[in-house]
Amino acid sequence: MRKKIVAGNWKMNLNFDEGQKLTSEIVNMLKDENVKDVSVVLNPPFPHLYPVKKLIGDTPNLYLGSQNCSDKASGAYTGETSAGMLASFGAKFVILGHSERREYFKESNELLTAKTKQALENGLTPIFCCGEPLEIREAGTHEAYVTQQLTESLFGFSPEEMSKIVIAYEPIWAIGTGKTASSEQAQEMHAAIRKHLGSKFGQELANNISILYGGSCNPSNAQEIFSKPDVDGGLIGGASLKSRDFVEIVK
Ligand code: PGA
Repeated sequence: MRKKIVAGNWKMNLNFDEGQKLTSEIVNMLKDENVKDVSVVLNPPFPHLYPVKKLIGDTPNLYLGSQNCSDKASGAYTGETSAGMLASFGAKFVILGHSERREYFKESNELLTAKTKQALENGLTPIFCCGEPLEIREAGTHEAYVTQQLTESLFGFSPEEMSKIVIAYEPIWAIGTGKTASSEQAQEMHAAIRKHLGSKFGQELANNISILYGGSCNPSNAQEIFSKPDVDGGLIGGASLKSRDFVEIVK
């Protein structure tokens, strides 16, 4: 049985008080809802991580994740945060390879392999993002583009390591644009990603990997997209900043 996961990616939003308020609201709403089949992850910016973890406390099925970590273990790397530091106060997940980091911070597949390795060595579950830009989708080469991202960054891992990674498929043209992929487009790509992982790691292993959809998910489209057989949940940006919308998506 694959894990169902809904992860909120706050990106670079919310000051301290706003982050505390949002987290408290989510914690309270989740206590009232029956979400035991879904792992819910909050991925705030670095300064929020520890205080958000305190508010999460022992709320069932609610976890802390980071939006990034260093590719290095420790040392003279000014401004960096290691996977080990994140794990030391209870973070369980880390988003890696988000298209915004690939584009604005020039993160390469090679760097992402090193970050993924750090995450795994420190017991964090990577939520590894992949996805194509609009021109690639329009050219019809999106499947080759996305499978190549995965080959270059993840195919050096052992099956045991791969089994601990969560994939997020996020078509770049759908991120923050209000233009979601149709549930058919999502299903088609998720199935292709699973098949591709199966070609390297075996179909059985691939069948157990959670693949999340991300890109303008909201309470009105989540149910339809998440109902597809190869879609195991979502990575939520804008809608994760509103407690009611986020919890609706989880439900
Ligand atoms: P969005 O962002 O939901 O605002 O489109 C998703 C993401 O970038 O993870």
